[in-house]
Amino acid sequence: MARDTGPSCKQCRREGQKLFLKGERCLTDKCGVERRAYPPGDHGRGRQKQSEYRVQLREKQKARRYYGVLEKQFRIYYAKASRQEGITGENLLRILESRLDNVLVRLGFAGSRSQSRQFIRHGHWTVNGRRVDIPSYQVREGDVIAVKAGTPVEALIRDATELTAQVPAWLQADHDSLTAKVLRKPERREIAAPVQEQLIVELYSK
Ligand code: SF4
Repeated sequence: MARDTGPSCKQCRREGQKLFLKGERCLTDKCGVERRAYPPGDHGRGRQKQSEYRVQLREKQKARRYYGVLEKQFRIYYAKASRQEGITGENLLRILESRLDNVLVRLGFAGSRSQSRQFIRHGHWTVNGRRVDIPSYQVREGDVIAVKAGTPVEALIRDATELTAQVPAWLQADHDSLTAKVLRKPERREIAAPVQEQLIVELYSK
């Protein structure tokens, strides 16, 4: 399965803010953005030209990197969002937020989306009693998520639960039994992604 394998901290530095791609390390002073608060590359410290297009492009790239989605998949999500009723930008964020790899992070069952994807691909999670090994799986209202019995990564999952302060109201998590339920679709205000979705819509509407 295709994925972005570039250095995570460079992605944050390019976007000029913490995207929390590395789990626990992101909370320490080893964070790349804390240590080098300028874009990567030879000209990172130079003056950046700010055009409208550049601002929109960076916002789209930031959203892609935050959720760990490649360009092609992101465009497919955008096309789907624009066909749905309602505001396209919000629909797009709702689709991204409902990916199983993201949901496990929100529930506190993984320290980062890359760890979450690895656990899903290795078959450590079930949805409604059936093993799901597709990180992009879209959760639906009423879905019951549970760790596979006897999984060897249970200790790592329990470690991750300690990093999570709060589970959003559209999800319900039981950190003792490592199970969860999707109560409903998320509202825009419940999506804690550092993204201005309107800029992405403007970019794709050109
Ligand atoms: Fe981004 Fe985390 Fe690296 Fe900091 S440590 S730059 S938040 S991936």
